Amino acid sequence: MDLTHRPRRLRQDRVRDLVSETSLEPADLIAPVFVDATTDERIPIESMPGHDRVPIDGIVARVEDVLETGVEAVMLFGIPESKDPEGSRAWADDGVVQEAVRRITSETDAYVITDVCLCEYTDHGHCGPLEAELRSEGGLEDGPACEPTMTVDNDATLAALEQIVTSHARAGADMVAPSGMMDGMVGTIRSALDEAGFEHVPIMSYAAKYESAFYGPFRDAADGAPAFGNRRHYQMDPANAREAVREVRLDAEQGADVMMVKPALPYLDIISTIRREFDHPVAAYNVSGEYAMLHAAAEKGWLELEAVATESLLSIKRAGADLILTYFAEDVAQRL
Ligand SMILES: [Zn+2]
Repeated sequence: MDLTHRPRRLRQDRVRDLVSETSLEPADLIAPVFVDATTDERIPIESMPGHDRVPIDGIVARVEDVLETGVEAVMLFGIPESKDPEGSRAWADDGVVQEAVRRITSETDAYVITDVCLCEYTDHGHCGPLEAELRSEGGLEDGPACEPTMTVDNDATLAALEQIVTSHARAGADMVAPSGMMDGMVGTIRSALDEAGFEHVPIMSYAAKYESAFYGPFRDAADGAPAFGNRRHYQMDPANAREAVREVRLDAEQGADVMMVKPALPYLDIISTIRREFDHPVAAYNVSGEYAMLHAAAEKGWLELEAVATESLLSIKRAGADLILTYFAEDVAQRL
């Protein structure tokens, strides 16, 4: 038997690190944090062990904890004190995210990315103001044929996004991340930022965001579950891969700086494709369901949490992501 080729030679202890193809660094990771205007104390998020909704007065301490682990960037989500059909607290200069950004940027060195969407701010929980759609099939709500149903008004949402990003930038956000999957959102936001003198603020677009069941625990965290229907009219169909390339191409044309794929683990093929097809940095969002399922299995003693968390993040990096948004950021960074 000819055994000239023995890959095991390079798996020996003293050489395996030298030939390792992928590595994880704390600087690759972004920690999502939740700031909540409705509370004076931290509220643990049951389905996301180790994560809390933090009051505005506690947000600096929360971010300092993140920085201590070596993670340098946070993604900020806000829960406002009140909601309305338009989501107007999303662009209020004294809004929860705006106030948190001012405090974090004046008191820490964290790189602050803000999630830009309306679903946490509208009382119906959709990612923009609603409009009637004269078709029952395809609306957000099932109804008898030919009765008006509701869907998100794309172009009215764009006008709201302009106000949100400029208010975030005025507060000091380092980067904005539109997540609503509205057509034209990146171009609209780029123009709004440029006209307001924020040409230096980059856009990380949730470019290929799927309508995924893995977001469940996040909805506890951000109080953003839609009151009716679902988001399949604006988020992508999990069956589609070519469409992701089209979405990312549109965002590239409109000036997005970083392209995100969300979720991560069930969409590693998409991350890999986007990596190959584009030269932009690729981000992947290792979402709440991906976090919660590993925690649940570990709690039962079925998996070893640290090992599966690290292996998950490594697989996302290996697929082609340059940066990873993950609820494991602090735990994994601490061990690196
Ligand atoms: Zn949204």
